[in-house]
Amino acid sequence: VEQESGSQFLAYLQQLHRTYSSLQEGVVASYIPEIARADPDWFAICAVTVDGRLFQVGDDEQLFTIQSISKPFVYGLALEDHGRDYVLTRVGVEPTGDPFNSIIKLDESSKRPLNPMVNAGAIATASLIKGSDPTERLNRMLAMFRRYVGHDVFVDMSVFVSERTTGHRNRAMAYLMLNFGMIDAHVEQVLDLYFQQCSVMVNCRDLALMAATLANNGVNPHTKERALEEHYVRDLLSVMYTCGMYDYSGEWAYNVGLPAKSGITGGIIAVVPGVMGIAVFSPRLQSQGNSLRGIRVCQDLSEHFGLHVFSMD
Ligand code: GLN
Repeated sequence: VEQESGSQFLAYLQQLHRTYSSLQEGVVASYIPEIARADPDWFAICAVTVDGRLFQVGDDEQLFTIQSISKPFVYGLALEDHGRDYVLTRVGVEPTGDPFNSIIKLDESSKRPLNPMVNAGAIATASLIKGSDPTERLNRMLAMFRRYVGHDVFVDMSVFVSERTTGHRNRAMAYLMLNFGMIDAHVEQVLDLYFQQCSVMVNCRDLALMAATLANNGVNPHTKERALEEHYVRDLLSVMYTCGMYDYSGEWAYNVGLPAKSGITGGIIAVVPGVMGIAVFSPRLQSQGNSLRGIRVCQDLSEHFGLHVFSMD
């Protein structure tokens, strides 16, 4: 990216946007009506460099709920609240190879959910957020997101209520974890916080800035505020690299080679450490629940600029 001028980089993003606008495969998630209502043609690509330059194409201001892209960031807050050693006793860092909402590897022989990027691990992670009551825990979480995006963020109430009303599988996993001693009491409060974190509203530009903050070692390139303690950035990027794209994480690591996280509403963030954050938003998903255009855009960007973390040419 450094070698090309900003206008050439923007032109390349515009070209990717044109190319993949015609990609009509994939389906919008439909598990709740608020999310099923998304326009399948929404499409945005944004990038923010570590020195704060912003590149944006398409529907970059369209708001949507962050969903699973919240998971690494809440994990970061849990690390700050308790330290790495303790958090590792409560949530592992092992990829599952199973769908994000799988219940299959939660059994009495395991001491903790496998990783913080699948739902079970994310719910256990939410249970670690400190605060004297639900309001304080929610406010601390929202303050954390604010440090990454540089402005106040809000919970979409109708999505939150729908998630809470229909999230039977998440609720089942939380109670199973309570029974196994993997999370402590107040299961309904923990679930509420998890559903609230999934329902935080962002646009593609916010996501690019969040990714850029990780690329910039935890400091927001626009506000210069530290969003995450420096020594935890590596931990977030590691779990994103191995577990961030659901049961597509291995293929993504092989082909794109960047720490990333996807969400069921069609966002993907990818981090180029020391260089920039990338975000793509397009609600049409492939079979594992990742944005189809998002995958293709990131694949092309990685190849074109040699961004794979293990590419040495
Ligand atoms: N909120 C949904 C759930 O918990 C979807 C999370 C996601 O983006 N995969 O099932």
